[in-house]
Amino acid sequence: MVHIDKEAEEKEVRRRLESIINNCPRCQVDDNRALIYKAFELAHNAHKDMRRKSGELYIFHPIEVARIAVEEIGLGTKGIIAALLHDVVEDTEYTVEDIEGMFGEKIASIVDGLTKLEGAFEQSDSLQADNFKKLLLTMVEDVRVILIKLADRLHNMRTLDSMPDHKRLKIAGETLYFYAPLAHRLGLYAIKSELEDLSLKYEHPKVYADLRQKVKDSEERHVDFIQAFISPIKERLDLDGFNYTIVGRHKSIYSIWSKMKKKELPFEEVYDVLAVRVVFEPKIHLPEKTQCWAIYSIVTDLYKPKPERLRDWVSSPKSNGYEALHSTVMGPNGKWVEIQIRTKRMDEIAERGFAAHWKYKDQKDKESELDKWFGMIKELLDNPNSDSLEFLDDFKLNLFASEMMIFTPKGEVKTLPKGASALDFAFEIHTDIGYKCIGAKVNFKLVPLSHILKSGDQVEIITSRIQQPKYDWLTFVTTAKAKARIKDAFKEERKSLIAKGELLLKELLHDKKLTINSRILKKVMDHYKVAKRDDLYFGLGQGSIVLDNLGKVLSTKSTNKWTRYWKLTFGKSDDEKNISNSRGNSLILSDESDKESYVISECCNPIPGDDIIAYRDVDDKYILHNRRCANALKLMSRQGDRIVSAKWESHKILSYLAVINLSGIDQMGIMSKLTKVISDEQNINMRAINIESHDGIFEGYIHLYIYDTEDLNNLMDKIMEIKGMHQVTRDDRVNV
Ligand code: MN
Repeated sequence: MVHIDKEAEEKEVRRRLESIINNCPRCQVDDNRALIYKAFELAHNAHKDMRRKSGELYIFHPIEVARIAVEEIGLGTKGIIAALLHDVVEDTEYTVEDIEGMFGEKIASIVDGLTKLEGAFEQSDSLQADNFKKLLLTMVEDVRVILIKLADRLHNMRTLDSMPDHKRLKIAGETLYFYAPLAHRLGLYAIKSELEDLSLKYEHPKVYADLRQKVKDSEERHVDFIQAFISPIKERLDLDGFNYTIVGRHKSIYSIWSKMKKKELPFEEVYDVLAVRVVFEPKIHLPEKTQCWAIYSIVTDLYKPKPERLRDWVSSPKSNGYEALHSTVMGPNGKWVEIQIRTKRMDEIAERGFAAHWKYKDQKDKESELDKWFGMIKELLDNPNSDSLEFLDDFKLNLFASEMMIFTPKGEVKTLPKGASALDFAFEIHTDIGYKCIGAKVNFKLVPLSHILKSGDQVEIITSRIQQPKYDWLTFVTTAKAKARIKDAFKEERKSLIAKGELLLKELLHDKKLTINSRILKKVMDHYKVAKRDDLYFGLGQGSIVLDNLGKVLSTKSTNKWTRYWKLTFGKSDDEKNISNSRGNSLILSDESDKESYVISECCNPIPGDDIIAYRDVDDKYILHNRRCANALKLMSRQGDRIVSAKWESHKILSYLAVINLSGIDQMGIMSKLTKVISDEQNINMRAINIESHDGIFEGYIHLYIYDTEDLNNLMDKIMEIKGMHQVTRDDRVNV
């Protein structure tokens, strides 16, 4: 047993509390200090004798959450109090009523919002969604709930090392799925990118370590470059009497990684990893905007801007309040550099988001974009019938989307997510306009209501009294609001059609002396390509799916020939031996191919060597996903308790199907060189090869059988050595 110096520990607890209070300008009033001490004593006493997995006294966690709330988010007294108390109701005997008695209604309702719904230990899919929904519901009442939740999450992510592996994945998954986008939406950029980087670190440890090293190396290489880039800018800014700071930095690891993924580029080819930020104190006699453009003009006198990369969030701020002028310019040595120009005030809003936003908000100011967004969430949440899971999906869509500005015929601006249609715009104006919409005029031209809008479009909605909402409208709206309203209109009808469809399937199966079970459902759903059971029933009930060939559908083997069944063993891998949690076991996948219970998912087709997770489905079958797969992320965040971390053992007996894409400059004999490298030198079997050539460029893909990622990477390196080859990437999809 390790000896713990309780006295020293207690001293450290007090020291940290004092330092938080001292760093909070708004806490200096005696009354406020007294309340903070009162909350601290309560929390300290309630969590007495509790320790975190790391062995640290539990109270350090709420204290650290309070510190983040004050120093990194900018909250005041109530924020500290709620942060100190945030785990008291969930983890100890105290109730929300106790808190209300001691600290009043406001604090009690914040703490209540931070307490998970009952039964949270056996979290089902929808209970998890219910918890998110509850959090959002209290957020619109008091935004501090979500700000403290983010501080809590940030501290848990910073200390995730002491959690067992399966919990880490769940927490990291939720963070990436829900909390990071939410931090972004609230304008908390620093927190958002730290959450993303930490999630990446735990979901893809190898990728993260590799990229971090590359960024570090690149930073060292670029020190002189940045100096050379900014020194002429400095000279001009000094000359014009600006009071400013200018710094160069790399983009976050996560943002580089997502760019690599999205554009299928290696690290070296992600072009604007460098960003230079100018933050200045505006001169009093000139508007901020004018001065931002003056600096832009200085920079672009020196370096040529990339025309399509100018972003003016000074004239029209983002809906999370972000203001700045961004541009990408051509620096020395042919390197693109992103340049961000903003005032001190704008910078504080960018770093601290919402809390700073209030500080600068003019009392007479009309409703801010953020207020409007809150209003939208509130409206969505007000609907008592809305299904939590569906709500979460729709809500998510709006968290991620980048924005565009759409003008009404009178010139009023509405902000919509990219990809929104004319119908989305109609619902944005008013629900009834949406229901009655028959078409639109975009920039005076008549278009159908499915027309996708572009930023800057001026849109007039055309309505008709006799129009009725249609179910298939759902296929071309993207905003949560439009989706929710259309679903509302069909709620009852859909319910009865689902019941009708289910009955229909039952009867058809009854004729064949069968009953509905998950195996049969899966076959039918796969055949008709629907993802949810209710969607299948709905299609049947509505008649868009006709089961005229049920016998054949049921007798076909699974279309995925490459599904393999594996022997399943549970064991502890080396780095987890120290964790004494019976649920912390991971799956070890070995070469023996007994017909047992797991399946390689088609969406991401993992092969040995990939970072994987296993999802236990309702039939207790394990489904393997690549950790970077979007579906895996969804599963981790929503059904973390069904996720088991999994590892491959070395594989040299069975081979797996993998697909690689390649492109390059067409040359004589490229095909024979390719096949030579693959079959002769590397001795790898190909299943199919498809290369097309046009205008001197070739593109194509190859299906291969390989043992593991090591073999695959070797092969890809070898192929890259062929003259004229430009790019070789792995494709996660099997059925290209
Ligand atoms: Mn906590």
